[in-house]
Amino acid sequence: MNKLHIHPKYCKGCQICVEMCPKQALKPSDKMNAKGYLLPVEDDMSRCNACRECEILCPDFAIAIETDDE
Ligand code: SF4
Ligand code: SF4
Repeated sequence: MNKLHIHPKYCKGCQICVEMCPKQALKPSDKMNAKGYLLPVEDDMSRCNACRECEILCPDFAIAIETDDE
C-alpha cells in the first residue's frame, strides 16, 4: 500500500491535499505541528492511486507519497 509522508515542519494545514485528492485517501487530523497547524493524515490509503496530485498541489512541498516500488 502507498505510504503518506508529511513534513510537519513545512505543513501549514491548508488541507489543499485533502480537498484535491481525487480518491479521498486523506483527511484532516487533530495532530498539530509546532506552529499549531493541523496536519493531514491517511483516511484510506488503499484508495490512493499514486497520482501525486497532493504532492503537486501542496504549496509548501510538505507531502510525499511513497509507492510500493520505491
Ligand atoms: S497541502 Fe501541504 S501544506 Fe497544505 S495541508 Fe497538505 S501537506 Fe500541509
Ligand atoms: S497520490 Fe493522488 S490518490 Fe494518492 S493521496 Fe495523493 S492525491 Fe490522493
